[in-house]
Formats: sequence, structure tokens, C-alpha cells
Amino acid sequence: MIRCERLVVGYLDTNCWIIAPDLPGRPPALIVDPGDDPDYLAAAAASYDVVGLLITHAHADHVLALQPLAESLNAPIIGHPAEREVWTAELDHLAKHGYLDAGTATADLVATGNAPRPNPDVPLWNGHLDQEIQTTTTLKLGPLDVDIIPTPGHSPGSLTVHAAGHLFTGDTLFPGGPGLTSPVYPLTDFAAIMTSVRNLLTYPEHTTIHPGHGPDTTVGTERPYVETWQARGW
Ligand SMILES: [Zn+2]
Ligand SMILES: [Zn+2]
Repeated sequence: MIRCERLVVGYLDTNCWIIAPDLPGRPPALIVDPGDDPDYLAAAAASYDVVGLLITHAHADHVLALQPLAESLNAPIIGHPAEREVWTAELDHLAKHGYLDAGTATADLVATGNAPRPNPDVPLWNGHLDQEIQTTTTLKLGPLDVDIIPTPGHSPGSLTVHAAGHLFTGDTLFPGGPGLTSPVYPLTDFAAIMTSVRNLLTYPEHTTIHPGHGPDTTVGTERPYVETWQARGW
């Protein structure tokens, strides 16, 4: 029914996903979070008819291959317009510090001499969205329905993708709780992410959760802990 291929890219080992119906030949596909390594992603994408590039949000580790892939694949960029502000903040951080913000990993990366910087040979995203998603929207990939669901909190325009019992949650929901929110990060919102997480955990318990970094989990595994996360406040 669904084919999903995980490609791990960039300085935070971001999970980029290629989602397609399980059909022979070159099925229509959506690429989620082309975070870096455009040549690697383009090679993987050659097995598909890529009909869109979707960003769950605009933190740099999810978008650094967006512009070159949009150009080489001639595919539209899909995302939430609130993410332009996030991307502007990412570029401001780069201009001010000389490296990208990597959330709680930034200090460690800088200390070990691996401060995250974009490849100067790869064009940065120009901030343009060909399709803006502001409410839950269903795209068709051949016979496969792909629902794009606003899940704000980690960032104001964070999106989650649902298809055939699989949730691609970006940095909204991981094994062990919601993604990063903190008063230190002004575009994040703990109350909002908890509302989003509670919404996602209403899917059937066998639904697979594929986060933006690291291993998968399931709705049934995570659902019992939601009040624990609420009480701890992160
Ligand atoms: Zn993020
Ligand atoms: Zn991330």
C-alpha cells in the first residue's frame, strides 16, 4: 500500500523520507524534509516521479537540500507560510554567529569543531512556497491519500504527514515525548505542541510514528505517557 524510504542526512542526522504508493515502475512520490546532501537525495529520488517537496518545518536541518532539489526535480515546495519567519530566524542566526542554530546540540557541535554551516556550493532556500498549507489538506499520490496536518508548537507552522497508518512527525513527536520547546526559543510553544501531540495520539495505536531524527515508535507506545510529559513541562 505504501512505500517509505528513509534517508539520513546532515549535521543532525535528519530523517528525510520518500513516501510513495507501493506500485511498480516509477510511482508518484513526496519527499519530506530534504535536510541536506542534495546529490544523495536526487539519486534516491530517481526511482520515483517526485510530485512535491514538503517541509515539516523550516529549521535548517530540514531544508538545506530544498532549493537544489526543487530546481533539479522541477517539483513544487509545500509548507506552512508561518515557517518563513522560522527560516528568517535561522538565516539571522547564521549571519550573526557564523554557524547555524542546532537547538540543544549547538554548543556540543561548536565545542567539537563541527559548528553547522551550509555548504557554500549549494543554494539556500529562497523562502518561496509553491503550495501553502494552513489547514489539514489531503494530497493524492496515485491511489495513496496523504494528509498534511498542522501541528504547531516546535515551530508555528510545523506540519505532520499521515499516510496509510504512518505518521511523519518532523520534530513534533519523538519516542519519549514532544520535540524541543523552550522559552529560550521564542518561536516554540509548549502548550501548542502538547495540543498537537494529543491530536496525533488519537490515531489508532498500531500507527507508526516516524520522527525527524532517530528511530520509529508507535502511537500505542507513546500514548500512556502524555500526562507525564504535560506535568514535566517539556
Ligand atoms: Zn526542528
Ligand atoms: Zn530537526
